[in-house]
Amino acid sequence: MDYYSTQITKLIEELSKLPGVGSKSAQRLAFHIINMPQEQVEHLAGAITSAKANIRYCRECFTMTDQEVCPICSSGRRDHKTIMVVENTRDLAAYEKTGKYEGVYHVLHGAISPMLGIGPGDIRLKELMQRLQGDVQEVIIATNSSLEGETTAMYISKLVKPTGIRVSRIASGVPVGGDLEYIDEVTLLRALEGRVEL
Ligand code: ZN
Repeated sequence: MDYYSTQITKLIEELSKLPGVGSKSAQRLAFHIINMPQEQVEHLAGAITSAKANIRYCRECFTMTDQEVCPICSSGRRDHKTIMVVENTRDLAAYEKTGKYEGVYHVLHGAISPMLGIGPGDIRLKELMQRLQGDVQEVIIATNSSLEGETTAMYISKLVKPTGIRVSRIASGVPVGGDLEYIDEVTLLRALEGRVEL
C-alpha cells in the first residue's frame, strides 16, 4: 500500500538504493529534502548531475577527476617514478590526507575476486602494466588486506617482478579486511614506511 504520494515513494525508493541507506533513513532523508528551501534542493540536485556529467578518470592514474590529467599526475613536485597501487579513489584520498606520500598513484577500481567473478581483466591492470614501460623505479602495492586485496597484490607482484622494477607491499599494520579509508593517518604512514619488498 502506498502510504505517501507516489512522488515521495519514488524519492524514498531512489534514496534507499544508495549504499548504507536503509528504508528508514531513506524516509527521513526524503522528508528532509521535501522540507528544504527550493533553492537548496536545486543546489543539491545540480551538484549531483554536474558531478556525474563532469567527472572522469585521469588518463594516467585513473583516479576520478574533472580534468584530463589529475592534479597529482600533472604536478612537477611529485615523484613520478614511484607508483602506489590502490583499489579505489577513496584509498588514494586516505593516503593524500597523510600529506607524506610524494609519489603518484594507480587506481585499479576494484580487486580480483574469483568469488564475485572479478578477474584481472575487470580492473585497471593492463593500464598499470602499460605505465611500467615508462621510467618507473618502484611499485608500492597498497591494496586492502582482505582476501581480494591480497590476491590482487600477489597477482601484481608476479606481473611486475620480471620487469626488474622494485615491487613492495605496505606493512600489515592495517587490520585484516580493513578499508583503507577508515584507517587513521598514523597507521597508514607506518604501513607505508614499513613496506616490505616482494
Ligand atoms: Zn592521475
